[in-house]
Amino acid sequence: MEKRRIAILGSTGSIGTQTLDVIRRHRDRFEVSLLSANNSADALIAQALEFDPAHVVICNEAYYEKVASALQGRDIKVYAGVKSLCELMSGPSDVVVGAMVGFSGLRPTLAALEAGKVVALANKETLVAAGALVTQTMREHGAVILPVDSEHSAIFQCLLAAQGNEARKLILTASGGPFRSLPREEIARMDAAAALRHPNWDMGAKVTIDSATMMNKGFELIEAHWLFDMEAERIDVLVHPESVVHSMVEFADGAVMAQLGCPDMREPIAFAIAFPARLEIGNKTLDLAQVGALHFEKADTERFPCLSLAYAALERGGNACCALNAANEVAVDAFLHGRIGFYDIARIGAACLDGLDFVANPSLEDIFDTHAQVSAHAREML
Ligand code: MG
Repeated sequence: MEKRRIAILGSTGSIGTQTLDVIRRHRDRFEVSLLSANNSADALIAQALEFDPAHVVICNEAYYEKVASALQGRDIKVYAGVKSLCELMSGPSDVVVGAMVGFSGLRPTLAALEAGKVVALANKETLVAAGALVTQTMREHGAVILPVDSEHSAIFQCLLAAQGNEARKLILTASGGPFRSLPREEIARMDAAAALRHPNWDMGAKVTIDSATMMNKGFELIEAHWLFDMEAERIDVLVHPESVVHSMVEFADGAVMAQLGCPDMREPIAFAIAFPARLEIGNKTLDLAQVGALHFEKADTERFPCLSLAYAALERGGNACCALNAANEVAVDAFLHGRIGFYDIARIGAACLDGLDFVANPSLEDIFDTHAQVSAHAREML
């Protein structure tokens, strides 16, 4: 069997390290062709020494010397900067894992799609900010996007069993995050430390805060719209605190298919990079008798207004989702640093949508302009 060559954009983050964990267990199947990180030079060096990729990219050029000298004498080419990373996307790799955080993943992801690659996409902000352009680029270049987000992986798996039948509805499950059962006044007082204590999933800081506000579910709605070509009114969000049902698909005859498992991101990662094979990844097996009961409830947009903002942005289309993402990136960063309160994240998102310079059919340049303008606007509101 030919080994599958895996390039990882953002290899030192949560998804990146879990991807390497899957690869470590299946060295006969995979080899690492490229590793990239933004600032985590030490972690990147350690990964490169272990996995021997052909290429290593440190995006922050200030760390280039450090990384290059640490890897001297190895058969590893070291580069610096996002531009180099984009150029390398046409190089020898079979699957590109898009695991960068936020809007910064857009350019490299587009470069990988332009090179016709299979992209295992965890970086949902890429589809939120520029879903139309990203999916158009994918189609034009015969590229493929495989979802790494657990909900979208679940829907993808359900659709694989659909024999070409169209889905009537997609049902995205949501854990509800750490504040699911708290009243609004109490949520309003919660800080970053509390929001970072996610009950079920082990994830990076940005997505964990997004889970607490449920903006993450809003972004997943937008992501599902683009990945599965489904309009917003046919995508439901259902709170399911156990995170065992990873999402569901309803068909014309009322049949609902679900994909279940213990919450472990290595499962959707492995399914995307080994597709269509299923690998052992050392995760817990699902013991439903032990789980005992599964609960479901409606999402409360009163206490979690970010979800409504995402629906509104998706309905509006154009550059609205890009604007919401930009506002959210600034607000979440400020919240993580203790500069604003929990509900300021939604307030800033709403204000940026209201004040948006709307573009109906944004070009890539428009997307970058929107991101820059809205980020600046959001910063003024802090
Ligand atoms: Mg998810």
